[in-house]
Amino acid sequence: MKILSVNAGSSSLKFQMYEMPEEQVLISGVFERIGIDGSFYTIKYNEEKIKKEIELKNHKEAFNILIKELKDYGVVENLNDIKGVGHRVVQGGSYFDKTVVVDDEVIAKIDELSSLAPLHNPAAITGIKASQEVMPSALQTVVFDTAFHQTMAEETYLYALPREWAEKYKIRRYGAHGTSHKYVSARANEILGRVNTKLITCHIGNGASISAVKDGKCINTSMGLTPNAGLIMGSRCGDIDATIVPYIMNTLKLKPSEIDTILNKESGLLGISGISSDSRDIEDGINKGNEDCILAQKMYVRRIVDYIAKYYVELGGCDAIVFTAGVGENSISTRREVLDGLEVLGVIVDEEANNVREKETKITKEESKIPAYIIPTDEELMIARDTYNLCI
Ligand code: ADP
Repeated sequence: MKILSVNAGSSSLKFQMYEMPEEQVLISGVFERIGIDGSFYTIKYNEEKIKKEIELKNHKEAFNILIKELKDYGVVENLNDIKGVGHRVVQGGSYFDKTVVVDDEVIAKIDELSSLAPLHNPAAITGIKASQEVMPSALQTVVFDTAFHQTMAEETYLYALPREWAEKYKIRRYGAHGTSHKYVSARANEILGRVNTKLITCHIGNGASISAVKDGKCINTSMGLTPNAGLIMGSRCGDIDATIVPYIMNTLKLKPSEIDTILNKESGLLGISGISSDSRDIEDGINKGNEDCILAQKMYVRRIVDYIAKYYVELGGCDAIVFTAGVGENSISTRREVLDGLEVLGVIVDEEANNVREKETKITKEESKIPAYIIPTDEELMIARDTYNLCI
């Protein structure tokens, strides 16, 4: 069965087509600069990558071209071959704790939640509507980044703020990267050979979050109302004292949008190093002895270690620590420093095994009290799996 996994941004459309249940990627690609001058798309098929420049006025045009390409490549014969399309949606609020089939009510709720994800939810709706128009016979589903975290208990997801804010203004913790945490925790359980496990999953990319997963269910996660909370990230500050915000707004006469930009785009590794949000540049800086990069990395690692320690206690132990996403899969030094920081818990890194990128690997020694793994994430596959399960 052919299933399409889709991730629509305001001017982009990423796709991956799977043969299910074999989980084989047939073709993948991305449309970029939709509705902007200089639009183009790239397609990967059989290890070969092509790029075509073409005017793309909107997402519907992109889907139409996608269908044409799928036919030209012989991936599908006609539209009806595509049985399901799974759409990634960033914010599902308290409404959605699992992947659902799209209907008008679902779209209305995603729209209602747009104030919590102003860049993402409206774009996803645009993608869903275009996909419905172009592929009316396919089952359309929505996979929420927040769904996996809906199992958190009330005492975990509430903020200690006036109680009615949660109800009236939807202010509570939702988390993010749920699709990734779900994927890697399921894979970790396969590796461990059981499902009654206590896992700490670290999705560390440009955005970063850590989850505590017990028996396959999320009991805590580091992101909050928005993806700004928790860890120090590429350019996001993570947890800070909330009253810094009114204080600095007053002092610098900042508007809400300006402070928002600073907390999300000018903080984190970038804010401290003054050089870059990219962990590769921070590593380069450290190798050249740059003190600001050394400090940024120390703060970054400290925060990850703190969250792992917190979740170790909350879970009452830990059967495995998992690293995934851009930094988690690639940064040998970040993983080593984090694991070294957990020495008191009996964690012993295996330097040789850890000297690897983007490959599923156990990176701790046999005698380590907690094993740690790199498990490359695959959110697209997770979307395809959920969609396939709703199709059969
Ligand atoms: P996003 O949150 O945008 O999905 P990714 O998970 O793709 O991010 O992670 C991107 C980040 O991964 C980059 O900004 C960079 O910091 C980091 N990264 C990628 N490759 C490497 C590498 N070889 N070494 C260290 N960090 C890397």
